[in-house]
Amino acid sequence: MLAMSEDRFLQDSRQQLSKLHETLMTELIEAKGKAALQAKLLVELRECEEALKRIDIGSFGRCQHCGEAVELNLLKGEPTTRFCLSCNPEI
Ligand SMILES: [Zn+2]
Repeated sequence: MLAMSEDRFLQDSRQQLSKLHETLMTELIEAKGKAALQAKLLVELRECEEALKRIDIGSFGRCQHCGEAVELNLLKGEPTTRFCLSCNPEI
């Protein structure tokens, strides 16, 4: 990742995650009484909060398995992702 564009990228990601957080909070309120949906939203909410925390501590964009930089396209599409392409269990 280029140092020059890093700040901008982090800012964008933070904004994207904050917005996602807001959306999830709203959906969570609307999901009142639907336990399965609530559980799913809570997981997403936690992932979102963890990603925001990673921006604060400077480990955002690092694969939590191998420590390599996560592919930028992957991060942009899904800023809550914690693994690079080769370590991602969902791909
Ligand atoms: Zn990895």
